[in-house]
Amino acid sequence: FPSAQASLNDPTIFSDALQPRRQNTHKGSFGDVAVLGGAHGMHGAALLSARAALHCGAGRVYACFIDEVSAFDPLQPEIMCRPALEFDFTNATVVAGPGAGNTPKARHLLETALGTVMPLVLDADALNILAGDNILQQRLSNRNSPAIMTPHPLEAARLLGVSAGMVQADRLAAARQLAARFNAIVVLKGSGSVIARPDGMVAVNPTGNPALATAGTGDVLAGLCGALLSQGLPVWEAALAAVWLHGHAADELVDAGIGPVGLTAGELIPAIRTALNRT
Ligand code: AMP
Ligand code: MG
Repeated sequence: FPSAQASLNDPTIFSDALQPRRQNTHKGSFGDVAVLGGAHGMHGAALLSARAALHCGAGRVYACFIDEVSAFDPLQPEIMCRPALEFDFTNATVVAGPGAGNTPKARHLLETALGTVMPLVLDADALNILAGDNILQQRLSNRNSPAIMTPHPLEAARLLGVSAGMVQADRLAAARQLAARFNAIVVLKGSGSVIARPDGMVAVNPTGNPALATAGTGDVLAGLCGALLSQGLPVWEAALAAVWLHGHAADELVDAGIGPVGLTAGELIPAIRTALNRT
């Protein structure tokens, strides 16, 4: 692989892609995000992704539940809750995986999402399903639309068929390998998240802190990636911006005394919105 590395110390690497909003726009200008997830007992993960997408500028956000559809999200009634099996994914940026479960039903829905030409974010159980399914792996590699994969080290290890220790021993190599193999932008999460492109370009994120080591922060990152893609950011810039803003928001919250102990993923969302509007 080429060893090119972009510096993410300066947000101008992506901030030009975050254009100020034009005056004459409407919600249709900012795209639809559909979160595919929320199996039994895991609706929270899907809702955290959907709330992040909403607060980060997506025009319309759907939470497509795999089991037991909620009527609506009482804390975020702007989100439209739908049964995933009945949803038409063809016109939405899909964020697949949060709380999806590793079941035949989730696999079937992931296959549907992979069949669209829309931008795609693959997280959590979407990555676990993919790790055990050669047919879906082929579908992803042969796809010509933007895709961001957001594995943590264990998810990356399952995809590569190695141990998490081996992933952590050379994070840049692991991220590059996954990006090349799946023809996607890969965000290998954890302290110093690595963002890799299929051509071998990588960046290491300097923002973020251990306040993020709590449930749901990964779901928030996936929703943020979806929102930036639905608003038309190029996929590399979208991944860089999402990872940088997510960490930067956590840094600002810790400065304000909200964390590192006890920061919640839900509290992270409005802080990311602020960072996004200021960057
Ligand atoms: P997940 O593992 O899917 O729950 O995602 C956790 C999120 O928090 C990812 O975006 C990680 O990069 C981030 N994160 C977790 N722990 C740390 C840490 N110690 N420093 C910086 N970021 C972290
Ligand atoms: Mg996760």
